[in-house]
Amino acid sequence: MSLNCIFCNKLVFGTTGVTVPNKGPAHQYCYQAHVALKRTFQSLDIGALNESEFNDLKDLILSEANERERKRRGASDMGDIELF
Ligand SMILES: [Zn+2]
Repeated sequence: MSLNCIFCNKLVFGTTGVTVPNKGPAHQYCYQAHVALKRTFQSLDIGALNESEFNDLKDLILSEANERERKRRGASDMGDIELF
């Protein structure tokens, strides 16, 4: 594996480097800039998902959002399942 940063392609030195899971070495500042710019959530690079994976994630998030909204409204309408 090369020791060049996966973002800027310059050599990564030990103390300034991080390893991006499944990708390779990077400078800490390059990685932080990447995380700030790209739609990355925790270790998940959303932009790297294929259509099917992305739709699964979207469904999960919608379903979680519905569930949380239902809880916020309280237990009065329990059993009222929201379809979308
Ligand atoms: Zn770099």
